[in-house]
Amino acid sequence: MERMNPFAVKREICEIGRRMYEREFVAANDGNISVRISDKEILTTPTGVSKGYMTPDMIVTVDMEGRVVEGSRKPSSELKMHLKVYRERAEVRAVVHAHPITATAFSVCGLGLDKAFMPELVVTLGLVPLATYATPSTDEVPDSISDYLADYNAVLLAHHGALTWGRDLTEAYYRMESVEFSAKIVMAARQIGDPNLIPCDKMPALVKIREGLGIKGVVPACGIAPAASAPGAGSAGSAGSAASGARASAAELEEIIAKVSERVSAAMGARGR
Ligand SMILES: [Zn+2]
Repeated sequence: MERMNPFAVKREICEIGRRMYEREFVAANDGNISVRISDKEILTTPTGVSKGYMTPDMIVTVDMEGRVVEGSRKPSSELKMHLKVYRERAEVRAVVHAHPITATAFSVCGLGLDKAFMPELVVTLGLVPLATYATPSTDEVPDSISDYLADYNAVLLAHHGALTWGRDLTEAYYRMESVEFSAKIVMAARQIGDPNLIPCDKMPALVKIREGLGIKGVVPACGIAPAASAPGAGSAGSAGSAASGARASAAELEEIIAKVSERVSAAMGARGR
């Protein structure tokens, strides 16, 4: 693992902390961010400080066991949760924990984000499970997420908030944004009516794009296609529901692959900074 420039990473952590605070992903001194800069070193936010007002000198360096090796402050109280992710996922270089309002409300209601509503979220985020309740800052927290680390990129913590990880800090943070965005969309859709899921026959195309971007993990549950209303659908009405999903032509599949690829590429490009 190539060592990253600690000072540049400290500045990046402060910038991401500022964004999290401005977007109301955290209140007061809540939340924490860490970045693994080498095989043996992790930079972490300190405890007892607002993540919206951090300066690089506040960031603490710890080893893989969580012992402070540099810095005058105490590391995050949720460091154990971060260390657990790094131990289980060798390719992960950043972990973000926050309490975004809508996603946290899902966790309070005992709900994960486990349905396929939007192509981009299927591709970049995948299924976001709900971990069982654990007392914050105790060993219960790393234990509660251990089942989800291998196959997911984010998890909701019951009655608590959300945890995301990624191959760099930008990816981990954008996953936190996507978790909250996803929760907001689901909440709004449920207020309007009965949300429809992406048809299952369209999912292989999304999985293909996902794999092409090097993203692993479980994708959310899909649904049947809505009743066809196109000319030639006949007079069967709603009877065509499931069958119309099964009859997606190769041309339709190609079209969705092209459209989603374009949108995902644009999104990834915008994130490239
Ligand atoms: Zn928390």
